[in-house]
Amino acid sequence: MIEDYPRTLLEMERRFVSEQVCRQYLFDLRWADGFVCPRCGGRTAWPTSRGLWLCADCRHQTSVTAGTILQDSHLPLTTWFRAVWHVTSQKNGVSALGLQRDLGLGSYRTAWFMLHKLRRAMVRPGRDRLHGTVEVDETYWGGEESGVIGRLTYEKALIIVAAEEDGKGIGRIRLHRIPNLTKTSLHGFIAEAIEPGSIVRTDGLPAYLGLEDYTHDRRVQRRQSEGEHLLPRAHRVVSLLKRWLLGTHQGAISSEHLDYYLDEFTFRFNRRKSASRGKLFYRLLQQAVQVEPVKCASIIRPQDMV
Ligand SMILES: [Zn+2]
Repeated sequence: MIEDYPRTLLEMERRFVSEQVCRQYLFDLRWADGFVCPRCGGRTAWPTSRGLWLCADCRHQTSVTAGTILQDSHLPLTTWFRAVWHVTSQKNGVSALGLQRDLGLGSYRTAWFMLHKLRRAMVRPGRDRLHGTVEVDETYWGGEESGVIGRLTYEKALIIVAAEEDGKGIGRIRLHRIPNLTKTSLHGFIAEAIEPGSIVRTDGLPAYLGLEDYTHDRRVQRRQSEGEHLLPRAHRVVSLLKRWLLGTHQGAISSEHLDYYLDEFTFRFNRRKSASRGKLFYRLLQQAVQVEPVKCASIIRPQDMV
């Protein structure tokens, strides 16, 4: 399928003017190779007057959002599309409050749930693992960040970072929260995030020892010189992440929500060289119609803020 997306806000506004247009766009993303009935696998369907598709084989009616994160939403697709544009078109993304204001949403809570649903779509199912030479490092979030506005009453969270080496620069990244610095946690993350056979570069933490399917490049700090870091890429990612968490979200992120923010940061970072912001809009909507639905109840309630 040719990647078809709006290049500018004006193009997006002019194009996605109705539920019907949005539904057709999602249809093309979800069923790029043609309709597949979720019940019988039939390949032929007709649109109904209620915006559904009627399977020609089993007569089952389905919607383009059924089974995705967008199902059961009371919000129009035109609003979702605008939210996706806002999230993807701004370099640093948006906060729930920003989204509420920009889209004129009725409540902060609605904006918050939209952002959290969209974040679930930011991790592509079955995405490729990192490979080549990958730096792995750990950091803490919360507790004593400087510049945090407001209270910080939650516990510190431990975050593990993997950053691919790309010449002198950084390739793709993965971020995850881990419960502790045990061998199980560290090795588990590495197995999930990095292709076997890669070179894994870590600090001297003993729990990293015994990596079986990788070449382990263990860097033990002997001399600390100012401005130098043994894992410069991972270190750089950590500082960008913290700046983003403190800037866009003003540090108002509790540790139980942190995973979603890490996913958003990763989504954005790994696509930072995209030629067009519109392409991120396209990718996020594409992934939104690929993933499993989330019940609001399974998302932890928004913090009492604003
Ligand atoms: Zn069917």
